Amino acid sequence: MAPSSAANKKSQIVAEDAAARPARLLDWYDRHRRRLPWRPLPGERADPYAVWLSEIMLQQTGVKTVGPYFEKFVTRWPDVEALGRASLDEVLRMWAGLGYYSRARNLHACAVAVRRDHGGVFPDTEQGLRALPGIGPYTAAAISAIAFGRRTMPVDGNIERVVSRLFAVEAPLPQAKPLIQALAATLLGAGDENSRAGDSAQALMDLGSSICTPKKPACALCPLTGDCLARARGDQEAFPRKAAKKTGALRRGAAFVVTRGAELLVRTRGEKGLLGGMTEVPTSDWSAAQDDRSALKQAPALRGVARWHRKAGLVTHVFTHFPLELVVYSAKVAARTRAPAGMRWVPVATLADEALPNVMRKVIAHGLGL
Ligand code: SF4
Repeated sequence: MAPSSAANKKSQIVAEDAAARPARLLDWYDRHRRRLPWRPLPGERADPYAVWLSEIMLQQTGVKTVGPYFEKFVTRWPDVEALGRASLDEVLRMWAGLGYYSRARNLHACAVAVRRDHGGVFPDTEQGLRALPGIGPYTAAAISAIAFGRRTMPVDGNIERVVSRLFAVEAPLPQAKPLIQALAATLLGAGDENSRAGDSAQALMDLGSSICTPKKPACALCPLTGDCLARARGDQEAFPRKAAKKTGALRRGAAFVVTRGAELLVRTRGEKGLLGGMTEVPTSDWSAAQDDRSALKQAPALRGVARWHRKAGLVTHVFTHFPLELVVYSAKVAARTRAPAGMRWVPVATLADEALPNVMRKVIAHGLGL
């Protein structure tokens, strides 16, 4: 065979392979799809409420952690109408422990908006969904593909990994995102608006979480192994390429665990900003420059506290933009000691009902020696 015809033949095989990928992916999904509480069984229609709720919960949290929270939410609020009637405080309490609390506030605002402005029915287009609180481009694409069969490809971290390996994308994240998005869209099957776009997206999500894992991908089991460029080169784990990460500077502060008999002194954070609307024990400011002496000066003014007891060790927590170290001080006050303005006493036995973020759970456990 002449060299040019051999080359033509090869490019034809590659093109045919590329065209067959969407079907291979769907075929694999039909046999190996994960069973997830929010996912309908094969042949059933997806419930937009379940898809939306799970996608918001999964934004910064893994499937295992989300499962019980999802079940709790749908048991308490079986549809978006019911969630739209709940109070924000109730939703925050139910969300406590899941982290990234702005999601809970947006979840509530979104349910209220769907109930009030859309008659309790989610809009079925990406544009309509994006107009709702807490729904960004990824979540809008995911809901419109999975719940409404729109021909669009949402790209999450799992899909980024699969696609960057499949095509050996050299550009680092996050600059590579538009390219990865375009390449991911080539894995959608041919078809109109009613295609199986949601299944194609979920197939890639499942592939990324169970086979094309960050370390030691199980390429032998992958339906795309035959035409994966990273696999052919043997450097799968080098993808996706990532730009050097900038982490925020360490912040420091003090937290004050004060008990009055079987009660604990707490306050509610302001609505806006980090952990907005959540419950906390009083703390100093958190800043890179904070030292022990100035942090202690910000202790709550309570009658009868002659001396704060500094607990050994530190409580550490990592937020998205900065790590935090807190010194914990404890004190006991007499019965009938009044809470300072803006604070309140709550029984330790009912703390589980408070909207306590994880960092505060750690602080309270440390301060009470639990
Ligand atoms: S062949 Fe391996 S690296 Fe390539 S997509 Fe499949 S699991 Fe990922």
